[in-house]
Amino acid sequence: MAKRDYYEILGVAKNASEDDIKKAYRKLAMKYHPDRNQGDGAKAAEEKFKEAKEAYEMLSDTQKRAAYDQYGHAGVDPNSGMGRGGPGGEGFGGFAEAFGDIFGDIFGGQGGGRRGGGGQQVYRGSDLSYAMEITLEEAANGKDSQIRIPSWDNCDTCGGTGAKPGTKAKTCTTCNGSGTVHMRQGFFSIQQSCPHCHGTGKIIPEPCTTCNGAGKTKRQKTLEVKIPAGINEGMRIRSAGNGEPGQNGGPPGDLYIEIRIKPHEIFERDGDDLHCTVPIGLTTAALGGTVEVPTLSGKVEIELPEGTQHGKTFRLRGKGIKGIRSAYPGDLFTHVAIETPVKLTEHQRKLLKELDESFRKGGDKHSPNSKSWADRVKDLFK
Ligand SMILES: [Zn+2]
Ligand SMILES: [Zn+2]
Repeated sequence: MAKRDYYEILGVAKNASEDDIKKAYRKLAMKYHPDRNQGDGAKAAEEKFKEAKEAYEMLSDTQKRAAYDQYGHAGVDPNSGMGRGGPGGEGFGGFAEAFGDIFGDIFGGQGGGRRGGGGQQVYRGSDLSYAMEITLEEAANGKDSQIRIPSWDNCDTCGGTGAKPGTKAKTCTTCNGSGTVHMRQGFFSIQQSCPHCHGTGKIIPEPCTTCNGAGKTKRQKTLEVKIPAGINEGMRIRSAGNGEPGQNGGPPGDLYIEIRIKPHEIFERDGDDLHCTVPIGLTTAALGGTVEVPTLSGKVEIELPEGTQHGKTFRLRGKGIKGIRSAYPGDLFTHVAIETPVKLTEHQRKLLKELDESFRKGGDKHSPNSKSWADRVKDLFK
C-alpha cells in the first residue's frame, strides 16, 4: 500500500508553519487517541494515530522535513532514530512537547519531572504545609510572625554526594545514568523514572552514614511571615521555594502556611462580619438605658430603647473585619440576651410579686408577645 503524503495526513499546506503542523497533529491525536477510541473503531483509529504521529515527527524536524520535501518518503526513514523511544528518547520529547499537559497522565504521571542538563530526570521538591494558629485580633489587624521551618543543607560529612567519604557513587547500570527507562505500553513508548536508582542515574554502594545517602541534612531555619490584615480561617500563604529541595537539581517546592483562628471569647466571625451576645438585666431591658459593648477596637456604647426584647440585634456598621479583598470592613452584630435575675432577697422577691400583680392588672398590653402567642395556641386547639 502506497504511503500517504505527510502533509495530506495532517491536512496542512506544503508551506505550513511549525505551529500549524503542531496544531494539526494535536487535533488528530486527540481525535484518534486510543483512550477515546475503544470498541469497533479502535483498530482504524490506532492506524490513524500512528500515521499522524509519524507525519508529525517528520515534518516537525527541520532537516527531515527538508529531506522529505526534496525526496518524498524515500528521503526519510521513520524507523530509524527518532520517534521510537531510541537512545535519549528524542521522539518522546517531541511528542510530549506537542501535547504539553494534555496527555501528561499517560506518561507515568511524573508530575514536574523533566529532563535536566545531565540527562537525569529532574524533580521539583514537594510542597510543605505549616499550620499556624492566630487570634482573631491578629487576623483582623495582621501580624509579623516568625516560624521555624525545616531546611536542607548539603551534608557536612559527604559534602552532598551521599557516598561515604573515600567512596564514590556509581553510574546506574539499569538506565546507564540517564535516570529514566522506556516502557512500552500498547504502541506508546513511555518514559519512566528508573526504578533502580529512582531517577538519580547513580547508585551509591556505600552510603554516607550521616545522611543515609541523601546528601542532605535537615536543619531548622527561621522564616519571617507577614500575615495580612483580614486573613480568614483556612486561607493559605505561599512562601515560594521554602518547601522540600528538588531532586537532581530541580527547583524546591513551596511552603504553604495555613491559617487557623483560635475561637474568641466574645466574638464569632462570619466572613467580614462579627457577632457577639450582650447580656442585659431585666430592668434595663424594660426601662431602656446605655450599655457598653466590646468591639475589636475598644468599647462603644449603645442606647437601648425602652422595652428592648430578648434577641434584639443592634448592628454596628464598620465594626467588623476588613477582609483581604474587601473594600470596606464588615459590621458587628450585637445580640441582646436578657438575663433573668437570680438569688433574690426577700425584699426583691416581694417587689417582683407586687410588680407581677400590677402587670396582671394591666393585662395584655404589658406583654404583647405572650398575648399573640396565647392566641396562636388557642387557635391550635380549637
Ligand atoms: Zn552525607
Ligand atoms: Zn537507574
